[in-house]
Amino acid sequence: MAAQFKADRDYAFALDRDDQLHQFIQRFYKLPDTIYMDGNSLGLLSRDSEASLLRILDEWKNLGINGWMNADIPWFYYTEKLAAMQASLMGAQANEVIVTASTTVNLHSLVRTFFRPREGKDKILMDELNFPSDIYAVKAILKNSGLDPDTHLVLVPSADGRMLDESTIIGHMRDDVMLAIFPAVLYRSGQLLNIRQLTAAAHDKDIMIGFDCSHSAGAVPHTFDADGIDFAFWCNYKYMNNGPGGTASLYINQQQLPAHPALAGWWGYDKQHQFDMDLEFHPSETAGAFQTGTPHLLSTAPLEGSLKLYEEAGIHNLRKKSLRLTSYLIYLMDMILPESKSGFHIGSPRENEKRGGHVALEHEEALRINEALKHRRVLPDFRFPNVIRLAPVPLYTSFIEVRDTVNHLKEIIESAEYRNYSKKRGDVA
Ligand SMILES: *Cc1c(COP(=O)(O)O)cnc(C)c1O
Repeated sequence: MAAQFKADRDYAFALDRDDQLHQFIQRFYKLPDTIYMDGNSLGLLSRDSEASLLRILDEWKNLGINGWMNADIPWFYYTEKLAAMQASLMGAQANEVIVTASTTVNLHSLVRTFFRPREGKDKILMDELNFPSDIYAVKAILKNSGLDPDTHLVLVPSADGRMLDESTIIGHMRDDVMLAIFPAVLYRSGQLLNIRQLTAAAHDKDIMIGFDCSHSAGAVPHTFDADGIDFAFWCNYKYMNNGPGGTASLYINQQQLPAHPALAGWWGYDKQHQFDMDLEFHPSETAGAFQTGTPHLLSTAPLEGSLKLYEEAGIHNLRKKSLRLTSYLIYLMDMILPESKSGFHIGSPRENEKRGGHVALEHEEALRINEALKHRRVLPDFRFPNVIRLAPVPLYTSFIEVRDTVNHLKEIIESAEYRNYSKKRGDVA
């Protein structure tokens, strides 16, 4: 798969020279003298996002409450406007997407709305590698509905603790499952699931299916409508570069609209009549119905600049570069730090069509190697107990940075430099 590369450093410069997207790096605030490989946890700030955020601040300064109707993009329609821009990245119609709340809150809202247990169809299907927050949310919802999570939440097992097998998932889609929720890209291994296959199988069994796209939004071009999924939700502060805790998004398939959201609030009201202040709730016919209160404009504004960047660069071009960056990284690990000599195991799928935007490197000394990398001003991401995730982000990571990261790893392993670091874990890892 990766034989098209060479391992020498000059070759990395050549890859950067040929990279059509290379100039986008200038649009970002790169950390000084640092190789940033953590864009799958918190994307970097672009000048474009800074500008859209500063514009909203300026509008607040100069317009006060009139910003709701008189701002450049009137604040009243801001989240719908951004949703329309984001829809194309997800293969969706504008009215099927809304920018709102946080990932976990949106999951609560979607499950509360769409999980309608009935006799003989009262289970939710997820997987044992799922992001813990998603599991906490679903268990809490079941408990609140008087259902025992031990019997009503079914977790598909993983054979190797890294990946999920689509046929195993489908085997668990039994008649008593009402709702299935899976990650599009697994947060640890970076495995990209076959969304279309899972959706077809779920619908065969009359199961509703939704996807957590936190690790795929902005990294993988989606085709939600064509795949026929029922809903999706994702955070925007990873590949979408919307800033720490930035507002999230959700998608609801046309077929499920209009919907009556469980977490109803006045911001989900039909926009033409929201200010009638009627005590009867008339939700918007769009995914916008899933908004509750006044949108967090200051946590949403950076997304505007970011979406313009995506429009300019093109999600398909970005995906192409991302796959080149990650397959180059895997190639270099194989050439320079093969498992037999280094103890590193590639914990991500090697097939391009099964990989999201990052590469998981497993090592029994991962924690201390991670510390040594940080000391050398490479910012990776550690997942307990043994995974270093490296995300070369196509908008702002160069091939030479990937090459130099592997060289840092080589020096850390060869000199056993990691032994200088403590095995104690920090609070955020
Ligand atoms: C990052 C991430 C989240 C984050 O949830 P928040 O509510 O934004 O904190 C949820 N699910 C997955 C799979 C993630 O990767």
